[in-house]
Formats: sequence, structure tokens, C-alpha cells
Amino acid sequence: MVFIAKPLARVIEEFNKLPGIGPKSAQRLTYYLLSSSGEEAKALAEAILALKEKIRLCSICFNITDCDPCLICQDKERDHSKICVVEKPSDILPLERTGKYNGVYHVLHGAISPAQGIGPGELKVKELLSRCQDGSVTEVIVATNPNIEGEATAMYLQRMILPLGICISRLARGLPFGAELEYADDVTLSQALECRQEF
Ligand SMILES: [Zn+2]
Repeated sequence: MVFIAKPLARVIEEFNKLPGIGPKSAQRLTYYLLSSSGEEAKALAEAILALKEKIRLCSICFNITDCDPCLICQDKERDHSKICVVEKPSDILPLERTGKYNGVYHVLHGAISPAQGIGPGELKVKELLSRCQDGSVTEVIVATNPNIEGEATAMYLQRMILPLGICISRLARGLPFGAELEYADDVTLSQALECRQEF
């Protein structure tokens, strides 16, 4: 890039750092911006700046938000005695889409993984426990992922929350809708059997 003007090279280099963007795409995007109106480039730059400046974590549930507390925590129509615990902020969206949950959330920002050296101290567990201790929470629903880390996290939370006299449950596991028994893996099938429900 010796023959490229410095400001150009700088933008190409920055685009190149983004996931899924190789050197060619980085060049194409940079030249596109150069040929576009100043307004367009400015709008992009401002949007990126605002993303980092205005987005933060809700001080109650640790969801990503641009206002604190977040809109869910502020919502008086919601049942604040129920907390659904998830691993990532992006896990909230599919749960909201079901339209079946009217409580609030708590984002752990990860899951317990001894293999990766991630313990409860690395997650927002302490904050969850202090929410559970303020007397207003009656139910915690653990919606961590159905894998080893998610299971370990759920077990740990159960151990910590049960003594507080709070009802704690885990999302039911089992066969996905439309699945055929014949093709289900052993773990899924045994969990479906364990979590069987009365008709
Ligand atoms: Zn919140």
C-alpha cells in the first residue's frame, strides 16, 4: 500500500480488521466511501461513534441498552417478581418473540466453564444474587444454553438461589418441534424422557 494516500490506507486497514472483510472488500468499501457524498461517510462515522458512546449495560439486568435502566426494567406492566436468567443479551430476543414471558431478565454475560477458567466471579452472578435478596423476587427461570457450560451454570445457580426460598426452574429440554424420535440424539432423548409432562 505504499502508493496509496495515507488516509485511504488507514481506512482500508480498519475495514480489514472487521470479521468477514478481506483486503479486497476493505479496498472496495473504502473507495466507495471516497466516491460517496460527504454526508454518507459522516453518517457512517457518527453511527459507529454513537454505538460505542451511547450503548451500555443496564445497571439492573445487564442487557445492552441506550437508557439506564433498560426499557424492560423500566416497564411497569412487567412482572418484576420473575427473573429469567440468560447467558447473552441476544438470548432475550427469541424469548421475547414467544410472547409468553412477561417477567424481567438478567444477563450473565457468559456461562461457567472450568475448562476456560470462567467461574461465577467472571459473570454477573453476584449481581443476580443481590437482586434475589431484595425480597421482591419470587421466581427465577434459568434459560442458559443446553450444553455443558449452561448446565454447570444452572446447577450453580440452583445451589445458590434455592436456600433463599425462591422458586427456581430451568427451561424444559427435549425434542424440538417437528423432530422425529428416530433421529434424536441420546442426550436430547433422555432429557425429553426426564422432563416428561403429565397430559
Ligand atoms: Zn434492564
